[in-house]
Amino acid sequence: MKLRALGEFGLIEQIRQKVVDPASVYRGIGDDAAELSLPDGHRLLTSTDMLIEGVHFRFEWTDSHSLGRKAVAVNLSDLAAMGGTPSFLYLSLACPVDVDFTEVEAFFEGALAEMATFQVTLVGGDTCRSPGPWVISVTVEGHVSPGDSVGRLQARPGDVILVSGTLGDSALALNHLKSHLPVDPYLLQRHLRPLPRIALGQALGAQHLASAMIDISDGLSADLGHLLMPAGLDALLDAAQIPLSSAFRDVVRDQPDFFELALHGGEDYELLFTATPENVPAVMALSDSLNVPVSAIGKLEKGSGQIKLRQTTGRIDPVLARGYDHFGPSQKTPEGRNA
Ligand code: ADP
Ligand code: MG
Repeated sequence: MKLRALGEFGLIEQIRQKVVDPASVYRGIGDDAAELSLPDGHRLLTSTDMLIEGVHFRFEWTDSHSLGRKAVAVNLSDLAAMGGTPSFLYLSLACPVDVDFTEVEAFFEGALAEMATFQVTLVGGDTCRSPGPWVISVTVEGHVSPGDSVGRLQARPGDVILVSGTLGDSALALNHLKSHLPVDPYLLQRHLRPLPRIALGQALGAQHLASAMIDISDGLSADLGHLLMPAGLDALLDAAQIPLSSAFRDVVRDQPDFFELALHGGEDYELLFTATPENVPAVMALSDSLNVPVSAIGKLEKGSGQIKLRQTTGRIDPVLARGYDHFGPSQKTPEGRNA
């Protein structure tokens, strides 16, 4: 059935039927506003992101179920980067009226499956026709105990720079997709199905182990830059410590230039954070207990926002931040990057 036959309210009803409200949702989908409760004494965290067909994704490369999952996952990743617990989500969609309902249904089922993994409830949204591309807007709300959230600006000279997981996998998959090359299935899954690091972010916040934290959406160099410049810091990174998956290493062994994607690629959705040297053993213990790999990749010095890289030869080179900027001068093939 085409969306035009189902109609806006038919679609909203289909979505509503898939959602079971927990006790924290007093009013969810179906009223003029959602009415929700937060745990006593906690603060509200809110984050929002847009995904535009042709800018952030192409149906040539993703199915709509994976797209739904990813739209939610990248949003949850922002709450992870605050040390928060996500609870409620608003999902707005504009798409052409001649789309099959099954496509839209798969999109919502993907989104709801990702939400279910993290006990997040869909509580509202908006539904519109689009004259062309799909436009998706996701807002997540969550909570955090006062004092437990982790911002971007509190890193100090001497702090160690740490990162979860591996870097560059998603960007390498996107590079191969764009070049019509075969893509390693592990790398493809890293691109299509990012994993928000909720448990790690929460624990780092609750145990006050991170001085600053951000999730890597635009690439290590660009997102590290956000922690440095405003705090008057430089970073010295160690190339040998940048965590790479074995699939990524396999490609880089033959084509060393692709290493750059671990520094500047995007859409890793890993947590980048800083910690005092005294706290690093506790961070590593947390990494073990949560079974989330964490690597120490460098340290912070007083400075002015510069990033330096110690090469495996020992030589130290400057790194120019060049992550993705939607309004920047060199947007030739922006698909797949996140705002
Ligand atoms: P309004 O006219 O006040 O904008 P709508 O008719 O757009 O209300 O929405 C009716 C209800 O359905 C609201 O609770 C809204 O949050 C919900 N809703 C609309 N679109 C979506 C969607 N894509 N996902 C989840 N809930 C939705
Ligand atoms: Mg509406």
